[in-house]
Amino acid sequence: MNTSFVSKRAPVYADVPDEKWNDWRWQLSHRLNTVEDIEKVLKLTDSEKKALQTQGLFRVDVTPYFISLIDPEDPDDPTRKQIIPVAEELNAFTAMMEDSLAEDRHSPVPGLVHRYPDRVLMLVTTQCASYCRYCTRSRIVGDPGQTFNRQEFEMQIEYLKNTPQVRDVLLSGGDPLVLAPKVLEELLTRLREIPHIEIIRIGSRVPVFMPMRVTQELCDLLAKFHPLWLNIHVNHSNEITKELAEAADRLTRAGIPLGNQSVLLAGVNDNVHIQRELVHNLVRIRVRPYYLYQCDLVEGAGHFRTPVAKGIEIMEGLRGHTSGYAVPQYIIDAPGGGGKIPVMPNYLLSMSDHKVILRNYEGYVTTYEEPTDYLPSDAAKFKGIKRPEPGQGGLTGLLEGESLFIKPDGFDELHNRGGGQHRLRDENKWKPLGIGSGETD
Ligand SMILES: *Cc1c(COP(=O)(O)O)cnc(C)c1O
Repeated sequence: MNTSFVSKRAPVYADVPDEKWNDWRWQLSHRLNTVEDIEKVLKLTDSEKKALQTQGLFRVDVTPYFISLIDPEDPDDPTRKQIIPVAEELNAFTAMMEDSLAEDRHSPVPGLVHRYPDRVLMLVTTQCASYCRYCTRSRIVGDPGQTFNRQEFEMQIEYLKNTPQVRDVLLSGGDPLVLAPKVLEELLTRLREIPHIEIIRIGSRVPVFMPMRVTQELCDLLAKFHPLWLNIHVNHSNEITKELAEAADRLTRAGIPLGNQSVLLAGVNDNVHIQRELVHNLVRIRVRPYYLYQCDLVEGAGHFRTPVAKGIEIMEGLRGHTSGYAVPQYIIDAPGGGGKIPVMPNYLLSMSDHKVILRNYEGYVTTYEEPTDYLPSDAAKFKGIKRPEPGQGGLTGLLEGESLFIKPDGFDELHNRGGGQHRLRDENKWKPLGIGSGETD
């Protein structure tokens, strides 16, 4: 294994015995959250002190391991900005929303968000190993009074049992890997008893905040519940240490595919060079960049937001310039509950009947000739096939019990197949409809 990543420990912890430093319980019980604690590691700015002394701010807590990654001399250190609050958190922004993704509205039972057809998000705890200042769920996360709620859990399991279209359950929170091992095991056991749940996913920043938690014992526990996938959350290469590399190696050897979700953050990782270095170091530790999120409209996190153009510029600087494996998808989670929307530079310049005009990552423009004799693999279901004259639009036909929508400029499009709400009025006639016209009986 590549061991060129470094270990760090702030001078104040020099005398802590290794057995303690490497014990996640010690890390959790020695988290820092006051001006007095944190000043022992770094010199705080006035803005940071003001925020730390403000009542009612989103919870602060940092593991000794994670705070040690900060360069104490640098007030703009990218790790520092993620976990030490600043006075800007107190600013109110009109555009900010308490529950910006409308998760509460999409919850059939408390703590379960069912927004997409085949998968659900299950919020299993409000606790984390450390608290990210831009947390999307700062409205619920951090509250020590609400950790694992037995009654809600039973309601969630009941809903999942009764909802067979759910084949993928994503555990998040809070951070599922701070749950007591017994609780985590029971949770996973109960999910695995539901036959239609094909995959279980965990979203966790524990490997980043506290890699010592990723013991062999934990990996063995998780491996009992395969197929199980894990997404970690790294925003900057400085977070990729020897300890994280080793934790990722243990997880990967336990058969758990690893992905990374990062957030595009002003002053942390809002530039192509930082992002390129990040994704390169992630693939070196066998973590596949999954999503790069645009920062949500979260109260207290306005100072982290970047223009969307910045994200597009970063994607432009990754795709083609580096391994496809290293390129995440840039996502805007639609405010108001619309879900994740992928956004990328425009590579498709135009489309016509027979040609598609594209550009590559270098700006080179090219033409792709479309086939003229394409038949969809389910063409047998068509009652009649009529090929258009050149320039007269695409293939027309009638699908048994379903409608065929034809775009005026000749693209073949089958819409709402299986949904059943779209029907041709007169099934004996060829009736090209406008794309997505929504004609119903
Ligand atoms: C992000 C998310 C998922 C998972 O989305 P993928 O794109 O499949 O990773 C599922 N449910 C909710 C509510 C989510 O926010």
